[in-house]
Amino acid sequence: MKLIFLGTRGGIKARSRKHYRHTSLLIYHGATTIVIDWGSDWATKASLLTLVQGLFITHAHPDHIGGLQQGIPCPMYTTKDVEDTMPHYPLSQHTLTPSLVYQIGSLTITAIPVEHSLRAPAVGYRISSTAHTIFYVPDIALLPAPVQTLANVDLYIGDGALISRHMLLRTKDHTLTGHAPITDQLSWCQEAGVQHCIITHCGTEIVRGKHSIIDKRINELSTLYGVTTRIAYDGMTIDLGTYLRRS
Ligand SMILES: [Zn+2]
Ligand SMILES: [Zn+2]
Repeated sequence: MKLIFLGTRGGIKARSRKHYRHTSLLIYHGATTIVIDWGSDWATKASLLTLVQGLFITHAHPDHIGGLQQGIPCPMYTTKDVEDTMPHYPLSQHTLTPSLVYQIGSLTITAIPVEHSLRAPAVGYRISSTAHTIFYVPDIALLPAPVQTLANVDLYIGDGALISRHMLLRTKDHTLTGHAPITDQLSWCQEAGVQHCIITHCGTEIVRGKHSIIDKRINELSTLYGVTTRIAYDGMTIDLGTYLRRS
């Protein structure tokens, strides 16, 4: 399984060269390619989705669906709860039943409801090839049943809006939106025995932060929780098998 972090910026004003576009992940395995989320920063890039088997949506915030307004050249998949909160865009839609396993080419994918926003129900995706399993959840306040949901997960890809509890910042338009700090997410990984974590959906703290200070803090957390952790950047590409062997 190969992963390309197309974008790694959260729903914030700040952007940097490393975190320039809204969070989106492309996954390919053999002849199968899927993409997760298509925020406003991707609105003029729909042609990138021409050869994609499916675009999966985590929830209806603009940094995740804002690029869908003019339609896309591939089918869209999400759960009914998420669909119900999306505007009516010209899309070919497939509805996923939560917790059911779907086969898309050589990948299996399952939508798992998570807590993030009262107005915009959200899911994370558990995605497997024959060899590996990842769990992808760019926006999350709380993961119900982490041990069960993250069982046998090789890599957790999570929400970088906040690094630690003490930095919890909420703006006026985010009153119903919650983001678990990286520390909470690492404790779920630790509890479930997940050894690797990559942080995407970076918030202001990471995007505006000094790289050396942020990297030091993330390294300290890696050691503290016993979970190898790094921050993704736009364009970062990994071959999962190689990555897991080397990290
Ligand atoms: Zn977001
Ligand atoms: Zn969100």
